Amino acid sequence: MVLAHDTERALAAAAALVNTGRNGEDQLSTIDDLHELVRVWKWTGPRAGDAAELAAVRELRPTLARFWSADKDTVVEIVNQVLRDRHALPQLVKHDQWDYHVHATAADAPLADRMAVEAAMALADVIRSDELGRLRVCGGENCEDVYVDLSKNRSRRFCGAACGNRANVAAYRARRAGPASG
Ligand SMILES: [Zn+2]
Ligand SMILES: [Zn+2]
Repeated sequence: MVLAHDTERALAAAAALVNTGRNGEDQLSTIDDLHELVRVWKWTGPRAGDAAELAAVRELRPTLARFWSADKDTVVEIVNQVLRDRHALPQLVKHDQWDYHVHATAADAPLADRMAVEAAMALADVIRSDELGRLRVCGGENCEDVYVDLSKNRSRRFCGAACGNRANVAAYRARRAGPASG
């Protein structure tokens, strides 16, 4: 394991949220879209289920996206600001089937606050481990998705198998076309 399990999970959830706003059609445009995101990523806790909650989560996307594009010092500023502004207070908790882990927001904090703080706490872990380089944007043509490279040798270049396969096919065709074509 490259990072702590809950850090890896939080990063994956943050990437999924960021990716709803990339690659064409917005996949977080309705309250139903948000229900689905919450269900898939198993966000627990109270929900408002209204347009204001959707707007707050959508507003969070560009902030989280900067974790994948900004330099380390800027990421640190954003992380600290999120933790300050959303009143993060780390506490060890145990609930449902999970053993002790850290929650840094009150159980009844708004969904967007919980999402923001969980992502910021994960980034704090990433920065301390000097692993920010693992947060990458897909190298696929026409794909802007972000992902976290958790491979041992930091060799992952694509958001997923589909983009990797497309690139392999393109490289194969280029090779067959001959060295002159590059
Ligand atoms: Zn928990
Ligand atoms: Zn991709």
